[in-house]
Amino acid sequence: MLKRIVAMPPKSYLCRKCIDMKNNIIIVLVCLLLSSIATAQEFNDFFSDKTLRVDYIFSGNQDKQYISLDELSQLPSWAGRRHNLSDLPLKGNGEIEMKDKKTGTIIYRTSFSTLFQEWLTTDEAKSISKGFENTYLLPYPLLAVDIKVSLKDSRGNVTTSLTHTVDPTDILIHKRGTDDIAPHRYIIKNGTPEDCIDVVILGEGYTKNELDTFYIDAQKACENILSYEPFKSFKNKFNFIAVASESKDSGVSTPGKGIWKNTIFNSHFNTFYSDRYLTTRQVKAIHNVIADIPYEHIIILANTKKYGGGGIYNSFTLTTAHHESFLPVVVHEFGHSFAGLADEYFYEQDVFSDTYPFDVEPWEQNITTLVNFEEKWKDMLPDNIPIPTAPNSKEPYKIGVYEGGGYSAKGIYRPAFNCRMRTNNATTFCPVCQRAIKRMIKFYTDK
Ligand SMILES: [Zn+2]
Repeated sequence: MLKRIVAMPPKSYLCRKCIDMKNNIIIVLVCLLLSSIATAQEFNDFFSDKTLRVDYIFSGNQDKQYISLDELSQLPSWAGRRHNLSDLPLKGNGEIEMKDKKTGTIIYRTSFSTLFQEWLTTDEAKSISKGFENTYLLPYPLLAVDIKVSLKDSRGNVTTSLTHTVDPTDILIHKRGTDDIAPHRYIIKNGTPEDCIDVVILGEGYTKNELDTFYIDAQKACENILSYEPFKSFKNKFNFIAVASESKDSGVSTPGKGIWKNTIFNSHFNTFYSDRYLTTRQVKAIHNVIADIPYEHIIILANTKKYGGGGIYNSFTLTTAHHESFLPVVVHEFGHSFAGLADEYFYEQDVFSDTYPFDVEPWEQNITTLVNFEEKWKDMLPDNIPIPTAPNSKEPYKIGVYEGGGYSAKGIYRPAFNCRMRTNNATTFCPVCQRAIKRMIKFYTDK
């Protein structure tokens, strides 16, 4: 059972006292003010203004998975939320729960998806075990905590979990980010890390001589993301920081053509033998470069003209910066990594299989199997919309229930005929994706 963080005793004491003093509006107002301060102080009751970075190795194969703790680090500041601490932004394919060790109270939760779980759906995972790096940022606890990390299958069942204790005074917690400041500049700064969502943009495959190009590319990515609704309406809730991470070689590795480069994050195409899938396994290397910068979300721009990219919820977006579709793709991938949106496209021959079972409602907000449509966009659907909505309609409804999405032509439905999460020629996110992104922005920033 989820225990929410309860209000501290002084808050309830003050409120009760105030209510007893009828007709004294001023005192009630003072009481309300103190009450809101007490709520804001909940973070400080459990955490300091630092980050606990937790590195795990997720390993195994389709039959059996394991989680191992790799390393703990302390980063100099905390850029994440200081409210909604025990709530999940989305269900996700994995979850982290932090409990105060003494009382067992849940004091922080977050969710994520992983490249490892995508790999588990490939044929390769039937015959071999592999290990993948995964790194998460948690607020730094004042006292000892138990951290439970769990992975879930496509049906939402926990497949493996690990619970470990962290003593915040442990001398082996690696103190990072106190020197060696990475060259970086704010592209847009609307407020403090506490008030805003902090997005870092890193360069992959840019040499020292190409860093000016990187800054231009980062500026384009930022401006383009913020030109889409609902990011546009909430742009004052974001900070974007360009980090000049330098590579020895120019470009990125393309194993399908026998090309390997020496780049800072060792990213490559042909992930899972898929031509256009560009990812990196060097997740710790990404986080090491930005240890001194307040950050919550990561975008990596790859210095290549080849088409490709990938975005993993609460992990990172990686996309190519010099293909003609760079701008729509970076927005699409950020839809995955920031808001946990699903792909609304489908192919007959996708490398993934069984990603979304037809008899389970997926947790992603922009696709449905109609198993539990009420928790999706049924409330947004105009009257008399046919389900499924005819896909060849000359004037497609803005919101419908179109069959095809989530890598399947059958059994999975998407909200709109077209959307930024479906094709590169869509000019907007569909209304359902817009609502999902808006909810995420508000989850992180509404206090
Ligand atoms: Zn959509």
